[in-house]
Amino acid sequence: MSPAHATRRAHDAEDAFRVEPYSAKELRFHVAGAALNAAVVVASLAWVIATWERHAIAWWGVLLALLAGAFVADLVSGLLHWAFDTWFNENIPFVRRMVLQVREHHIYPQRIFDIHFTHDAGTLSWISLIFAAPVAAWTIFDADSALPVYAVLALGSFSPLLVFMLETHKCGHRSRNPLAVRLLQKSGVLLSPSHHMRHHCGNHDVNYCIVNGWADRTLGRLGLFRGLEWVVERTTGARPQRDDHEWLRRFGRQVHPRQAQPERARQLRQRGT
Ligand SMILES: [Zn+2]
Ligand SMILES: [Zn+2]
Repeated sequence: MSPAHATRRAHDAEDAFRVEPYSAKELRFHVAGAALNAAVVVASLAWVIATWERHAIAWWGVLLALLAGAFVADLVSGLLHWAFDTWFNENIPFVRRMVLQVREHHIYPQRIFDIHFTHDAGTLSWISLIFAAPVAAWTIFDADSALPVYAVLALGSFSPLLVFMLETHKCGHRSRNPLAVRLLQKSGVLLSPSHHMRHHCGNHDVNYCIVNGWADRTLGRLGLFRGLEWVVERTTGARPQRDDHEWLRRFGRQVHPRQAQPERARQLRQRGT
């Protein structure tokens, strides 16, 4: 490759993913989402503490609710990641910035460290609020029942894990993490690098979940994502991962055709990844 050609490709790499800086209006939107979500989750947890004796909650119920919240956070992270990898493209204005970030991440994985947590947390707080608001309303309209208490406890693990899901993803990409994070990764509480690397060394169509991978190991293995793709493809005629494959080809990266997936899965199993 000539120096001029190499320079042109380098410029293409820089420009292709460039997005406008956040406007003041977008930043206000993020701050509002973070504040609202935090207020709803904290107020709901305060209600649980204030009414604890009235509901006589069992310790195993607390544990189960927290585990359920962590599982749902992982599942939602996987569904969001899957939707961006499989169906969205950068020509849809509302999701353009996120699409470019996930395409860039597939081509240059380490560039996620240029994205600050505060920019991720605002959007994710709004998504958390979609779940938190109905749970909070449930506590108001069904205050005597124990069921909303369990839902709030689940929210107690769900909301922070969802808001921090791109941080747990970053930990899955770091070559060095603090000892506490490494222990949590080894024990399966947080996303491990080995689990997430299967997403990157393949065709970006497995291991979508980026909180802890629990939903990949259960619903993912049972065919959740392939089943959803079948439904979307049948109903809309859209082809899965079309945009992702175009970006990979544009940057000279290898694309594994979808029909070769059983063979690809066998190769990955043999390599122990
Ligand atoms: Zn990644
Ligand atoms: Zn991906």
